[in-house]
Amino acid sequence: MRRPFNFSAGPAVLPEEVLRTAAAEMLDWHGSGMGVMEMSHRGKEFISIYEAAERDLRDLLAVPAHFKILFMQGGGLAENAIVPMNLSRGAMDFVVSGSWSHKSQQEAAKYGRVHIAASGREGGYTAIPDPASWQIQAGTSYVHLCSNETIDGVEFAQLPDLKALGCDAPLVVDFSSHVCSRPVDWSRVGLAFGGAQKNLGPAGLTLVVVREDLLGHALPICPSAFDYQLVAKNQSMYNTPPTYGIYIAGLTFAWLKKQGGVAAMEARNIAKAKLLYDTIDPSALYLNRVDPAARSRMNVPFFLRDEAGQPLLDPAHPRNAAFLEGAKAAGLLQLKGHKSVGGMRASIYNAMPLEGVQALVEYMREFERRA
Ligand SMILES: *Cc1c(COP(=O)(O)O)cnc(C)c1O
Repeated sequence: MRRPFNFSAGPAVLPEEVLRTAAAEMLDWHGSGMGVMEMSHRGKEFISIYEAAERDLRDLLAVPAHFKILFMQGGGLAENAIVPMNLSRGAMDFVVSGSWSHKSQQEAAKYGRVHIAASGREGGYTAIPDPASWQIQAGTSYVHLCSNETIDGVEFAQLPDLKALGCDAPLVVDFSSHVCSRPVDWSRVGLAFGGAQKNLGPAGLTLVVVREDLLGHALPICPSAFDYQLVAKNQSMYNTPPTYGIYIAGLTFAWLKKQGGVAAMEARNIAKAKLLYDTIDPSALYLNRVDPAARSRMNVPFFLRDEAGQPLLDPAHPRNAAFLEGAKAAGLLQLKGHKSVGGMRASIYNAMPLEGVQALVEYMREFERRA
């Protein structure tokens, strides 16, 4: 039996192979007599799971030796506070390219002076502000950006080179919703963080990759469990880490390696996204408003239009309701757009096969013919 295709923005689809392995190992991991949830995080069984996950991720993303990989908790939103509590020396700069980076700067304002170096808000978050126009303050602690805006469907085609912009502060990247979908240029990054539930595993695990020289500067108010230096010193086991999340993410890393790694995933993700945008753009019914140069390969928001060609935001509009109902009947789940944007959104993460996107565009064409 084929499972339906799940286009949820997160928590999101996982590779079927990962779920089947986890199911088979639920009661007895590798003959240990224990399920992974039941193991001590300090026992040799779990340590081997943790070490393999760390090693595979470092390998997949080509993380250099002078970066630490931390497995933490609290999700992307907690990192919005944890990052400034660790890195702020008073002032921070933000590039606001969508809803998530907007949230990040709001939270950081509790821990220091926030300066907006650039914002795409006036354009309705449909483009990335040109780095040449960014106004970064001298002496800033770091520059934050969200490299893939999950809600607005805006993705950085490449990370900015802050040094070329005359700034030697570290770049902080929220890569929650496209981690492992493409390679990362670590020479441009000081710290990257992401919740696992978009592209790696279950909610509850947060990945942090941080350059070693940024450790050890936490503000006195920073909770010990969130002090990157303490977490790094203790191999992410200062307190009990999210063991099951690490295990599932580890299975996903192994699956990614089997698929040919991140470069192979990137090629697939480009093909999937192209198929979907190439269906939307020439259509009289569907609309995506994002600048083609900034379109996300992972999250594709789109609207259906009314007879006058106007985008239909309200999910309860009969045409939107009919689209979603028909999609569900065709085995295409969770296509409703984010409540702040309306319309539809197809999240096509690593674990979404090309066949899923093919099934979606077939359904969209069929729906348009009938509309
Ligand atoms: C989902 C998401 C978050 C928030 O993650 P939580 O785990 O809910 O805190 C932050 N940033 C981005 C880009 C996201 O996609």
